[in-house]
Amino acid sequence: MMDCSNRYEKQMAVPVFGEEGQRKLASAKVAIVGAGALGCFSSQYFIRMGVGQLRIADGDTVSFANLHRQILFSEEDASNATPKVDAAVRELRRFQKDARIVGIREMITRENISDFVADSDLIIDATDSMPTRFVINDFAVRQNIPWIYTGVAGTEGIVMPILPGRGPCLRCLFPEDPDDAQVANCKRNGILPITPGFAVSLQVAQAIRILLGTVIPDTVIRFSVWDGTARSFRLSRNPRCPVCQGSGR
Ligand SMILES: [Zn+2]
Repeated sequence: MMDCSNRYEKQMAVPVFGEEGQRKLASAKVAIVGAGALGCFSSQYFIRMGVGQLRIADGDTVSFANLHRQILFSEEDASNATPKVDAAVRELRRFQKDARIVGIREMITRENISDFVADSDLIIDATDSMPTRFVINDFAVRQNIPWIYTGVAGTEGIVMPILPGRGPCLRCLFPEDPDDAQVANCKRNGILPITPGFAVSLQVAQAIRILLGTVIPDTVIRFSVWDGTARSFRLSRNPRCPVCQGSGR
């Protein structure tokens, strides 16, 4: 019988996380929308760190163009066009065979988001799609579920924890629906694998701070991995936001 009792000792030794962080993470249910680069990095962090339950959705299949940055997939997955969710769940179980993981082979829409998120405490944006982010935002704010907007392109990215009722939402930033042509994304701008890697480190840190109750609600983090810069700034709620209006403080 393997001794797994020291699995989390090094992370519990970090004072800001500690035993309380471990306990809260172990009872947390997290839903990740997307199993591309962001979803591969973040899902493996959550599983390796001991999240209570992980739900992950993606309707796409693995291709060779994914392999430089989508770290859970193999050449065999690309040759077989394996559904990303199937390959991700298979790999995640190799890190923690008893992990509670629910994989859904579908893109998330206004119709299925409620069933997908189910009883999750937190939603992670791992899409590369503004329309899908608005699906997440509108649902999460109305259901009072925190979520983390994460956008990456080229060598730059943005991470913004959204706490319904406590800080601005995505609609506060973009009152009109921007389409994917107006916002930098991987399709148009390309992507280096180090960019989602860095974004997810910031994203999972904010996720854990939400679970610990220490996140700062109005914070937006912008970074460039190439220039080696990151800065965070505060953003106010838009009093005319059609989604936030009437919710919270
Ligand atoms: Zn808003």
